[in-house]
Amino acid sequence: MVLHRIVRAVIMGPPGSGKGTVSSRITKCFGLTHISSGDILRANINAKTELGLLMKSCIDQGQLVPDDVIARIILKDLKSLEQGSSWLLDGFPRTVSQAESLDDAHSVDTVINLNVPFQTIKQRLTSRWTHLPSGRVYNVDFNPPKVPGFDDVTGEPLVQRDDDKPETVTRRLKAYETQTEPVLEYYRSKGVLETFTGTETNKIWPHIEAFLQKKFSMCNQNLA
Ligand code: ATP
Ligand code: MG
Repeated sequence: MVLHRIVRAVIMGPPGSGKGTVSSRITKCFGLTHISSGDILRANINAKTELGLLMKSCIDQGQLVPDDVIARIILKDLKSLEQGSSWLLDGFPRTVSQAESLDDAHSVDTVINLNVPFQTIKQRLTSRWTHLPSGRVYNVDFNPPKVPGFDDVTGEPLVQRDDDKPETVTRRLKAYETQTEPVLEYYRSKGVLETFTGTETNKIWPHIEAFLQKKFSMCNQNLA
């Protein structure tokens, strides 16, 4: 499907709720540019950039990096996109202050909220494997790689993220509750929040796809 208007979307949900997987499906189906704050931070850690070195301990401990740091990175990335690009933000904004910074530069028209029970998430995160260079994620239970331990596309090895350890997962879920849930309220009050509830990405996905198809084609008609 080709988009005929600019779409500014955000995907939200607790850590391990399937944001990465759903984002890649959305970008594939609808051709938006995917910007993932977690992938950007991990790429910096991998490449041992100054930023990466500064942020590593924060991330490994399951804490959020400072608002101004992440906001500057994401807003710079958005600026570097071609004018008129449609994009999907994943992992940002994670605090109300970040949402306000984003608002100052761009108004978001669609927020997809993945509502997955915390119990499901805990199980999931500990069986998750990541291809660090691309951010592709696999799950040994329901989305395994073709060859165990290796990325389907590049054949490179998969790793388990340091921040996917049980105590760290608990801390990340806590940070989500206290700092990120208020962002849902923020977008709900602006009338752009759409929540999808479930325990399996493959069952939630058709609803998201149908919602976006309807939303985008409705807008196309409005423009015609
Ligand atoms: P998942 O990707 O499965 O949803 P997640 O959302 O916990 O998991 P990422 O989005 O990949 O993980 O982020 C990893 C870590 O990077 C976070 O725990 C946090 O330390 C840091 N981080 C990422 N985005 C932000 C942000 N917008 N603000 C502050 N810290 C961030
Ligand atoms: Mg992510």
